[in-house]
Amino acid sequence: MKGKKIFVCWILWSFIVFSFLWTVPGFSQKNPEEKGLLSVMHSLSSNDLFSYVKELASDEYTGRLTGTEGYNKAARWVSSHFEKWGLHPAGDNGTYLQSFPISYTRVFEECGVSLHVPFKETTIEKSYTYDDQFIPGSTSGSGKVTSEVIYVGYGVTAPELDYDDYKGVDVEGKIVLMEREVPVSPKEDTDLFKKWRPYSFHQYKLENAVAHGAKGMLYNYGPIGNPNNAYSEGFIYSHVGEEVVSDVFAGTGKKHREVVKKIKETLQPQSFNTGKVYTIENTTEHHPQGTGFNVIGILKGSDPQLKDELIILGGHLDHLGRCYEIMPGANDNASAVSVILGLAEALSQSEVKLRRSVMFLCFGAEEQGVVGSKYYLEHPVFPLEKTMAFINMDGVGCGDKLRAIAAENYPDFWQFVNQANQKYIHREVNPSYFANLARPRLDAARFMWHDVPTLSFSAYGAKSYYHTTKDDIGTITPEIMEDLAQLLFISVVDMANQDSLDFRK
Ligand SMILES: [Zn+2]
Repeated sequence: MKGKKIFVCWILWSFIVFSFLWTVPGFSQKNPEEKGLLSVMHSLSSNDLFSYVKELASDEYTGRLTGTEGYNKAARWVSSHFEKWGLHPAGDNGTYLQSFPISYTRVFEECGVSLHVPFKETTIEKSYTYDDQFIPGSTSGSGKVTSEVIYVGYGVTAPELDYDDYKGVDVEGKIVLMEREVPVSPKEDTDLFKKWRPYSFHQYKLENAVAHGAKGMLYNYGPIGNPNNAYSEGFIYSHVGEEVVSDVFAGTGKKHREVVKKIKETLQPQSFNTGKVYTIENTTEHHPQGTGFNVIGILKGSDPQLKDELIILGGHLDHLGRCYEIMPGANDNASAVSVILGLAEALSQSEVKLRRSVMFLCFGAEEQGVVGSKYYLEHPVFPLEKTMAFINMDGVGCGDKLRAIAAENYPDFWQFVNQANQKYIHREVNPSYFANLARPRLDAARFMWHDVPTLSFSAYGAKSYYHTTKDDIGTITPEIMEDLAQLLFISVVDMANQDSLDFRK
């Protein structure tokens, strides 16, 4: 008897709960169109995305440095997927590849940095370890230099700012130790930074050292790899970290941290002869006239008018190549290309309707100075004024949170993503404002300068290994890629089908 009562109560309770849930938005029965959309969204799986990263980060593509055969192979591999899915080839001569000129430098194994320590009548050599303590300059000249190290602060000569790091020191034939960036940050003083900005480029700093007669450089930058630099025949440089910098300063009576602080506070150079003798040796091969590629496929919209408007999903395909070991670039930026591939397949191989056109755009040579996106913007294959939105991704495979850079610059654009996230994905996505004043470090920066509404995504919340050999498949968290792919899928479908879309206003 008691059991029957409980059973009746249970039926009644279930009925009440069920009736209530029916009224909750999102729980009520979805219409067939939404159901179809969600089933395609769920087809975007971390498994597939992970397998794409694994492929692109494999040794087969030798780190995808633009200009090398490894990069070309990767570009062809992406093209073959675009072709399989029937995307319209929007590159040169009916292919998916848009070519542009690029110089590049290959770095081979015979590289090293060492300190000569006087010991009794002779000297002993302290050699630094690759990856942890030094990484050869990705555009270093080939050869060997041994000399005293001269500390030259930020390596800047700016007469109009009454500032010269080379004043009072003679670096002719010597190795210089230099900081990256400039002593003024765009966040602290925007107007002042604008005056210093031209001196913040790696290319400028290297060329200024060469112009002063230096033969080598220890660049206090990481140590990480970075091919975004000038090449100067016979100028040998390496990126070094704390261990080398503190050895250079040891016994000089100066502390590195305090010297840097003083330059920043006073904007007065603090250059000096360190008395330390170093050897830098690199083995490289420079190719001044290489060819790079952007990979471009378009899914044409179904609406006779709106198909002339475009949404771009983009990210860079390239990475650092060998420097001198393979830099796999799993997070940076095989992760983004994988999400682009996932979205290209989901959008092209389903019944999902898109009124506007969608472009899948993988850039070359982002790492060599954000060159591929610059070339695209100077040679767009679709009118830029009809490009309604650009979604960029850079480093989206490592962490548990997402950053939406420039979301506060384009609040209406951001709302599409934010709403999709709150309705379906529920991942932490943090919007931010992008002042975009410093030298360009994202393809997104260039699109914003061309007045294309832009959002740029990156993942964070876990240790990533920016520009080292350790940025490999083992650091990838596939779930964040799946969430981002699903989030962008819903957002892009929504944007592509609006009657009007104008984020420029
Ligand atoms: Zn990078």
